[in-house]
Amino acid sequence: MNRALPCSLLALAAFCFPISPLAHAAAAPQTTHIIFVMTDGLRWQEVFSGAEESLMTKEHGGVKDVPALRKTYWRDTPEERRAVLMPFLWKEMAAHGQLYGNRQSGSDVYVTNGHNFSYPGYNETMSGFPDARIDSNDNVPNPNRTVLEWLNAKPAFHGKIAAFGAWNVIAALFNPARSGLVANAGYDPFTLPPLTPRLELLNSLKSDGPRIWEDEPFDYVPFYTAVEYLKIHKPRVLYLSLGETDEWAHAGDYANYLDSAHRADRYLKTLWDAVQSMPGYRGHTTLIFSPDHGRGAAPVEWKSHGEKIPDSKYIWMAFLGPDTRALGERSHIAPVTQSQIAATLAALLGQDYAAAVPKAGKPIPDVLAH
Ligand SMILES: [Zn+2]
Repeated sequence: MNRALPCSLLALAAFCFPISPLAHAAAAPQTTHIIFVMTDGLRWQEVFSGAEESLMTKEHGGVKDVPALRKTYWRDTPEERRAVLMPFLWKEMAAHGQLYGNRQSGSDVYVTNGHNFSYPGYNETMSGFPDARIDSNDNVPNPNRTVLEWLNAKPAFHGKIAAFGAWNVIAALFNPARSGLVANAGYDPFTLPPLTPRLELLNSLKSDGPRIWEDEPFDYVPFYTAVEYLKIHKPRVLYLSLGETDEWAHAGDYANYLDSAHRADRYLKTLWDAVQSMPGYRGHTTLIFSPDHGRGAAPVEWKSHGEKIPDSKYIWMAFLGPDTRALGERSHIAPVTQSQIAATLAALLGQDYAAAVPKAGKPIPDVLAH
């Protein structure tokens, strides 16, 4: 870092020139806290190009009010469209962090589990490797230790990690009975004390609201539960999985799909703004954002994903924090895989998951301090 400082003062000359051998060593990370948000099955196409015109229709996107949807999300260029769909991602994360996965710019990100659906993708993301045993979305405890369970076994992180999810399988992903992690998902009430009036209301909304989907409530429930937990318990790692982007796409409802992506972006901003005012977090928190799988192409296969849609293996990921240089939207770089996220998350916290779990993907070098 010293190399970037001006060398105008003689007193600083020893630090600036000649370059110290230490300047070449990996810098200790500044990150002490992580916020990791996933949104299920959001396509790289919308992330990098915004709303897709052929889907803003009744025929292919089930859109009821096409002029209104176009007014909200259609703009003349991909850059304008993506910024209006996900303003925080583009004005903050891309401007001050890094964004991977724009296949049109030579940046491929993909899942390696071969299934291109949810539980295999969440397991690959959080344990760092694909597992042939996880070949369904059945709500069964994860046989693998996730990177969060691995961190939770360390005194510096023990009891300072929590996971929230819309989809009920997100709790099973972290296997709380074995891991001891706080993991709340689906329609299960959040019961860990202290139960604030806000948490009690969220539990009521969870139990009393209409159930469009049998395995997950609307995203605002886990989101606001996670925000409340963040403020009360101040975890070092907060994980949040949102589900609506996948559900609306499966329903062929492009307007609600876009709206849920837009809300996910606003949730990121809310979390980021919250930690800027929290002692210990500001300047020491890294935000990570990714999906569990991609989806097919317009005009029909965008609704689905899986083995039969090979392109649904392509995903994207974003990083913002004190250790990640502002390289923005990456282009013409080597591919990155979903299996690298776990070790990258750990490395940002100064922890060597890649050494402890050799079959896990290696940290993404450019995301880390140099
Ligand atoms: Zn999914």
